[in-house]
Amino acid sequence: MASAAEELDAVVVGAGFAGLYMLHRLRGQGLSVKVFEAGADVGGTWYWNRYPGARCDVDSLNYSYSFDPDLEQDWEWTEKYASQPEIHAYLRHVADRHDLRRDIVLRTRVTAAVFDEDTARWTVRTDGGHEVSARFCIMATGCLSTPKFPEVPGLERFSGPWYHTARWPEDDPGFRGQRLGVIGTGSSGVQAIPFLAGQASELTVFQRTPNFVFPAFNGPIDRSVVAETKAHYREARTAARHSLFGVAMDMPTQSALEVSDDERRAVYQECWDRGHVFALVQSFTDLIFDAGSNETAAEFLREKVRDRVDDPELARKLEPRGYPFATKRPCLDTGYYETYNREHVHLVDLREEDLVEITAKGVLTTEREYEFDSLVIATGFDAMTGALLAVDIRGRDGVALRDKWRDGPETYLGVAVAGFPNLFTITGPGSPSVFGNMIVSIEQHVEWIGDLVDHMARHDRSVVEAVDTAEKEWTEHVRAVSDATLLPRADSFYLGANVPGKPRVFMPYVGGVGPYRAKCDEVAGNGYEGFVLR
Ligand code: NAP
Repeated sequence: MASAAEELDAVVVGAGFAGLYMLHRLRGQGLSVKVFEAGADVGGTWYWNRYPGARCDVDSLNYSYSFDPDLEQDWEWTEKYASQPEIHAYLRHVADRHDLRRDIVLRTRVTAAVFDEDTARWTVRTDGGHEVSARFCIMATGCLSTPKFPEVPGLERFSGPWYHTARWPEDDPGFRGQRLGVIGTGSSGVQAIPFLAGQASELTVFQRTPNFVFPAFNGPIDRSVVAETKAHYREARTAARHSLFGVAMDMPTQSALEVSDDERRAVYQECWDRGHVFALVQSFTDLIFDAGSNETAAEFLREKVRDRVDDPELARKLEPRGYPFATKRPCLDTGYYETYNREHVHLVDLREEDLVEITAKGVLTTEREYEFDSLVIATGFDAMTGALLAVDIRGRDGVALRDKWRDGPETYLGVAVAGFPNLFTITGPGSPSVFGNMIVSIEQHVEWIGDLVDHMARHDRSVVEAVDTAEKEWTEHVRAVSDATLLPRADSFYLGANVPGKPRVFMPYVGGVGPYRAKCDEVAGNGYEGFVLR
């Protein structure tokens, strides 16, 4: 254990993609840094989400660090979309390659971070009894890291084992021959269900909202694409950084309503065949702005459900309706709908019967009790703010972040909070974060924070704080940009709508990864406008 009030330049909370790179970056700038990580290993999301079938829905060549050009060349991805074990192995390799582990304290959760105005330092405490003092406190806690459980009571009464997809045990439990219940059909459920169906003797899926799901067409990575990308990686990375979603793609030029039905179908089919989550969203200019245009894509995808599911009544239940396409994160699948054609797989539509409680034997709905040997909980996360507010963060005048954000998060650029000097939130609310390729957004924040810390050193400044008015303007801009789209029309985790009582505020910045980067660069170029440096 560290000695009381060990003095550091920076504390980083979390050792996933963000925390590892932040440590590397600040260490490279000569700072003393310590990382606290709750998991038993580095990896963050890719440590915790080890459920069967877990894999990324951004292609491997894009979902990787760009900061180390040698790593980029050395590392060989095996699949178009990497699996959780492969991404975890990659992050473990990065930790070793850059000798990061010596400054990472594992199995240790940060519980509190308190700013002292007299010393202009943060005191950071952990559940392991550490107390460290640091000039900078950097939250690299991830956007989807605090699991959310079903609101109904009784999980503790269930007599069998249960597993949340985001807290999967290192030794995979396996469900061979078991009656298994799964609650939730977001990306995690959609990925896990085909694998779980391969194990269980009876699998029952509880679906509250059907998602828009289309095939990943995953497989061995195309070696010619790897060679081509590696030959021009710098250009590819630059294009990704300036794109809408952090993945370079051709920009559409037409509305979905400007073309004939046949032309539109051909475009959708081409995007479908690519098996790419952002291709369909970006196939026309107005899919996330115009309900009529959006409905054409939604109907195309519903038709595909009817094609893939044999039983028309079951297909009807699985067809996504009631919210526009892409207003909840669409899912990429491998055999998801086909799984429902198997005799031992059953769907319970929670729009027709409500969940009442978890019982000792299984799940009780308003219709009947379903009995299970094990349960899988795939109900997602308290997204974006959950992990930040899990830590008791107190800024100037002892103000708690939990109080400041009572009505929803307010940030300047999603990276800083007025009243909380020298605190940074990597991919925090108000930045593109989950609305695109996380790695591009993570690297942008890490480098921007690193540059700011360097700027402070060069200009003999020890404290930086977002200005209240700049924060208010940015928060209003984030809201206005999302309000101009269809995005707030779904009860999504983007809006906090999946967590009862959470303020209904659209959290990611949806103005685009490229434009957001340009704004951050402009702020820096103007001497960190909107910040006070003391
Ligand atoms: P999610 O998208 O929030 O899905 C949670 C599911 O649980 C939804 O179907 C939700 O229904 C349901 N649910 C929640 N509370 C419930 C309740 N009380 N009763 C019944 N059903 C309930 O969470 P996720 O699947 O873990 O995915 C979250 C995000 O993580 C994804 O959008 C993606 O960004 C990321 N992720 C990515 C990948 C990938 O790269 N392929 C894989 C997994 C996760 P409602 O829709 O009605 O709320």
